[in-house]
Amino acid sequence: MTIDLEELYKDLHTNPELSFQEVRTAGIAAGHLENLGFTVHRNVGKTGVVGVLENRPGPVVMLRADMDALPVKEATGLDYASTAVGVDHEGQDMPVMHACGHDVHVTCLVGAVETLATRKQDWSGTLIAVFQPAEEWGGGAETMVSDGLYDRVPKPDIVLGQHVAPFPAGWFGIRPGVTMASADSLSITLHGRGGHGSRPETTVDPVLMAAAATVRLQGIVSRELAASDAAVVTVGQIHSGTKNNIIPETASLGLSVRSFDNATRGKILGSIERIVKSEATASDAPKEPDFHYEEHFPLTVNDESAVDRISASFRAKFGDKKIIDPGPVSGSEDVGALAKAADAPLVFWFLGGADPALFQEWATTGRLPDIPSNHSPYFAPVIQPTLTHGSEALVTAALEFLGGRGTN
Ligand SMILES: [Zn+2]
Ligand SMILES: [Zn+2]
Repeated sequence: MTIDLEELYKDLHTNPELSFQEVRTAGIAAGHLENLGFTVHRNVGKTGVVGVLENRPGPVVMLRADMDALPVKEATGLDYASTAVGVDHEGQDMPVMHACGHDVHVTCLVGAVETLATRKQDWSGTLIAVFQPAEEWGGGAETMVSDGLYDRVPKPDIVLGQHVAPFPAGWFGIRPGVTMASADSLSITLHGRGGHGSRPETTVDPVLMAAAATVRLQGIVSRELAASDAAVVTVGQIHSGTKNNIIPETASLGLSVRSFDNATRGKILGSIERIVKSEATASDAPKEPDFHYEEHFPLTVNDESAVDRISASFRAKFGDKKIIDPGPVSGSEDVGALAKAADAPLVFWFLGGADPALFQEWATTGRLPDIPSNHSPYFAPVIQPTLTHGSEALVTAALEFLGGRGTN
């Protein structure tokens, strides 16, 4: 290994970039791919980078890492913490942090392609490395596909990827079938009639409407779904008003909905519209609410037989006890778009990134340690063994399909 992964990781962590602005990160990834002998396609889906390494006839394996960071002000206190400021899609200055660990993903993929490029005698086929933009934004994978990804590179026979998560470093979470939820983000505008705060009788108060709707929306999961149908309805934003003595004209709600099957998803979205419209009617609103559907992440579904093969190779490589089934995860991903467009199976697994020492009590007391989750300003994966294991996992999984000789 000639690339210093720890140094690369710290550099990426210190220099995070928002979705579709991953120019520096993409340049670093492309540079490594070129040095390793890959044919490199830049600017695929705006800032995406794809490298192709053909090595004799055989299957086509795609390894994917996402590159983008989040508008979060880092509070980890690490000596390589980010102080970066970016400009978001609305032109606002935002602190930027790799609070979801996509810097881990990029680093591990660079490590994996270096290993595979220097061990060409051990495999045959075509290796495709995808450095994807804008996973957080939603649509980064889709943008690569619609920008002609598969006109430029061969369609893969399998798509593989991973996400770092706050469970012990050195462990992996992998499961067949539905592995991550679908996600829908929607904004709702409620219309009232503004006026003086002292004379509510002349107004229709959208603040009350928004508050009532928010409370009532919590009844969808608790009262309208069966206990066996897991889902999440989160109202993450409520905005209205400018001054205490003004009843405003409108109020807006921002919702995030997670579900694990399409029927449940449809039912929830229908219930949201019904409840919000009913609250508007209850307030005698002058106009129906507006529903604006924003990003949608589909379900992430792992191919069962490919998961069996990769689980077995992970067990052999990392030890039986380190491979767990995390159950369906309520987070969401767009990696499935790369597989869907190629009609290829997908396997997406979770890479432990938390200090294993913190979990010592867990075995005896069952109490989980208080570890910051992804998107927290305190999210701080331990560098090792996370980077080594993440890189080895990609190599191990790729060789499972590229005819590795079991020497990894
Ligand atoms: Zn994230
Ligand atoms: Zn993420």
